[in-house]
Amino acid sequence: MPVLVVDPPTVTALARNHRRAAYYSDAVAHLAESLAARGTRLVVRRGPVARTARTLARELDAQTIVWSASYDARAVARERDLQSSLEEAGLRARAVHDAPSVAPDEIAAARAQDDGRGYRSFGPFLAAWSELARTPFADRTVFVPANELASEPLPGRAEFGARDEAATGGRDASASLDAYLSGPALEYPAARNVPAGAPTARLSAALSFGTISARTVLARIDARMRDPFLLVEERASVRALATALARRDFFLQLAWFFEDQPDEALQPRMRGFPVARDHPALAAWRGGRTGFPLVDAGMRQLTATGWMHPRVRAIVASFLCFDLGVDWRVGRDAWDAYLEEDDPALASGNWQWIAGVGADLAQVPRIYNPAKQLRRFDPAGRYVRRYVGELSNMPDADLFGTAASPDGQMRLPLFGAGAYPRPVVVHEEAASAFLRRYAAFTRNA
Ligand SMILES: Cc1cc2nc3c(=O)[nH]c(=O)nc-3n(C[C@H](O)[C@H](O)[C@H](O)COP(=O)(O)OP(=O)(O)OC[C@H]3O[C@@H](n4cnc5c(N)ncnc54)[C@H](O)[C@@H]3O)c2cc1C
Repeated sequence: MPVLVVDPPTVTALARNHRRAAYYSDAVAHLAESLAARGTRLVVRRGPVARTARTLARELDAQTIVWSASYDARAVARERDLQSSLEEAGLRARAVHDAPSVAPDEIAAARAQDDGRGYRSFGPFLAAWSELARTPFADRTVFVPANELASEPLPGRAEFGARDEAATGGRDASASLDAYLSGPALEYPAARNVPAGAPTARLSAALSFGTISARTVLARIDARMRDPFLLVEERASVRALATALARRDFFLQLAWFFEDQPDEALQPRMRGFPVARDHPALAAWRGGRTGFPLVDAGMRQLTATGWMHPRVRAIVASFLCFDLGVDWRVGRDAWDAYLEEDDPALASGNWQWIAGVGADLAQVPRIYNPAKQLRRFDPAGRYVRRYVGELSNMPDADLFGTAASPDGQMRLPLFGAGAYPRPVVVHEEAASAFLRRYAAFTRNA
């Protein structure tokens, strides 16, 4: 019997991000339609999850309650309470690992790592992950007709304060994946780097809400890899997409095994590193007005669309952590208000990775020079001009710093650049100051 409990923490979380609220509501409507087509009904109830689930179990005379596990410490704690409460009521309760393609605690090798706490390093994780046979998902679910059971109305976006936000609720996720694999996926590695180039897979929202599963994505990738007409480099591209999915599993298992990871640096020695919670230019970073075109375009893409290109994410995050010296948690939380996808484990894992305090795949800060990155990955300025209107008529020489001022910063022309701000910091100076503090701290840590 499929049941959706809309509990107060869900309502509070969705009210904070209207894009997610729209996606969630559409996805639930889609799920209800699919279940109706299979002869059953999505039963909706509102209220605290444990009490609601117990009441429903009594009404249904059910013995077992199963749900898809979360990888966010707060949700994991709530689910642990749910489990105890159901077991105290004599019910069997089971969380299943539905989000990753490989369950964290089912990789036998993972138990052998770090006292059974999984992998802290992506290289060995990937090696073990790649060895695992991918069993196709066999859908043998038999649904109980639910017509007798009272159900509340489906949650609508207005319930969370959202109105006109565009969302598809993942209805098109499966077809979009097929279209992606048939062509653009063959250029995936380049797409990861060039924000104005070929598209990346755009799977993050669908994967985070479960409107497509990681197992389905990997099964389709495997099928594509069996195409005998793929060129070697095309096969490598598709394989790189599978590796991206492995990275997702890696961060999910980190969050599963290291429950304090969302808010604490994974590297214990970095927990005492002094970082600021504020900076005079923090508001400029949030608003896409730092005077660094790639940083600003990234933040404006995020606020306008709910998504930011992966390479640009790394540069914008690096700028906050190192040029401004601000705590990675401030950046993660700032993005959370806008991102359509809802994947706390991936957000924390990636922010920690950039900040150089997370899994040991990068034990050093990842400092990017935003001007060099612009020249390298947006060499015609197409991406930055798309999102930063003030730059649309700026000559290339000014945009790329080839007409740079003596301090190495972009020189703004007196006329024609609209109100685009001057750079809020001198990158080389800010990055060097950070590295001095970092070196002094790690020497003594
Ligand atoms: C600072 C920073 C913060 C990030 N925050 C998030 C976040 O909150 N939520 C999120 O889903 N991703 C996050 N990422 C990872 C990555 O940027 C996004 O998953 C990606 O941009 C989503 O777009 P896509 O689906 O087109 O990606 P593609 O490149 O097409 O990848 C396909 C899928 O692979 C997975 N994947 C790809 N790269 C990564 C990665 N580095 N880590 C984990 N999984 C990955 C994702 O599920 C992604 O949807 C972050 C990266 C950085 C550098």
